[in-house]
Amino acid sequence: MTHCHDVLGIGFGPANLALAIALEEEGHDLDAHFLEARPGPSWQSAMMLDGSDIQNHPVRDLVSLRNPRSRYSFINFLFETGRLLEHLNVPMEFPLRKEYAQYVTWAAGHFGRLVDYGAHVTGVAVDRQAEGGPVYTVTTSAGDTHRARALVVGTGRSPFIPAPFDAVDSPRVFHLTRYLPALRELGVAGEGHSTPRAVTVIGGSQSAVELTLDLARRFPRARVTTLARSLTLRLKDTSPFSEEGYFPGFTDYYYRAPRDRKDAIDSYLRLTNYSSADGDVLQELYRLIYEQRLDGDQRVFVSGSRQVRSLEVRDDGVLLDVEELNTGETEEHEADFVVLATGFRDLGPAAHQERVPALLRDVADEFVFDNHGYLTVEQDYEVRPLDADTPALFLNGLCESTHGIGDAGSFSLLSLRAKVIAEGLRKSLP
Ligand SMILES: Cc1cc2nc3c(=O)[nH]c(=O)nc-3n(C[C@H](O)[C@H](O)[C@H](O)COP(=O)(O)OP(=O)(O)OC[C@H]3O[C@@H](n4cnc5c(N)ncnc54)[C@H](O)[C@@H]3O)c2cc1C
Repeated sequence: MTHCHDVLGIGFGPANLALAIALEEEGHDLDAHFLEARPGPSWQSAMMLDGSDIQNHPVRDLVSLRNPRSRYSFINFLFETGRLLEHLNVPMEFPLRKEYAQYVTWAAGHFGRLVDYGAHVTGVAVDRQAEGGPVYTVTTSAGDTHRARALVVGTGRSPFIPAPFDAVDSPRVFHLTRYLPALRELGVAGEGHSTPRAVTVIGGSQSAVELTLDLARRFPRARVTTLARSLTLRLKDTSPFSEEGYFPGFTDYYYRAPRDRKDAIDSYLRLTNYSSADGDVLQELYRLIYEQRLDGDQRVFVSGSRQVRSLEVRDDGVLLDVEELNTGETEEHEADFVVLATGFRDLGPAAHQERVPALLRDVADEFVFDNHGYLTVEQDYEVRPLDADTPALFLNGLCESTHGIGDAGSFSLLSLRAKVIAEGLRKSLP
């Protein structure tokens, strides 16, 4: 019989890594194990773009809000790798994403004994016949089975692929979470690479702007077009008052609000994280386009109020049929490939959301949904079961629809959330 862990964590990204650290530092003596699909520790490796910086204050790292004395802080990483002083001297407001990824990898390296890498979980079930009471059984694509008395799902959100792209299966159309590997597969990155003639980015987010800049740098002779549904590219809401949406007190306040007020809060805070970009990248992009126009050689274009109505994938590229939303006029765009910066799916009943994380579809009926169709998640991130004897299931980093913008998959609050989940696990595992 397979060993039964106290806790199995699915995914070992920043959220479950922060949990592993909290379990160690807060003295919870639980047998926790993690399954991670990637071959080794990494963070957003498909979007490791030259020059990109992080979107969170670096001190809002894996640990510091919970335990500023932790050895797993970003500052201690810089200290232990001999870069602290040099780093503080870099003329940048926020650290490079590359450096933060190194930090995450460094921290994860301390917990290798707790993680199976290359373990892609494909199934989750409740075994009610197990000796000693119901437990979870988790299966991987390699056919391995793992058992645990509690589960923490920290898989990150699923990419959102809107129509008409959702009906297309082609290496020429891909979500940003596959950006760098997809370029290599298309033969436009890596040794002896070819150069595309035209590329299209779909979206108006921070990632869309970063991708546009990256493509313009990589392929200076290519035509790079960004199509956004919004009127044009917008500045992020960085008001320090709005930023209080990323305070733990705000999470509690949001949690208690009824659904219609949650919706109102969401639409107000949306621009702090979605459909908007930081001033530095917007300014860089605007300057680039202006200079190209000045040189009479514009190759980068931003077109707002555009909706792709249909697309045709051909042998040598993609043909997009695009509507200008305010005039109703249509235009055709040809591209060698299309990058979708179209965001992620949150939990919920709407078409752009998902009812439960994809991995939990087979056990969804074990849990309570509210009158609006949202999964009922307790304040400590445990999903409310229908039967009291269902083993505990926690969601780590997937609860924006119940806990608000601070839970939008970012670093902002994950160290504090890890403490709450660690305490919840302790309570549910007597
Ligand atoms: C390009 C990009 C840049 C970002 N930059 C920032 C930033 O600067 N600051 C910020 O605060 N947030 C940023 N974010 C938000 C991001 O969600 C968080 O930084 C962070 O990655 C969230 O951690 P997580 O562990 O919840 O999810 P993830 O980082 O997505 O980690 C989830 C892990 O689960 C694994 N996994 C998924 N499914 C399975 C499965 N079935 N079986 C086994 N393992 C599985 C994945 O391989 C992955 O390693 C960025 C997001 C993107 C896409």
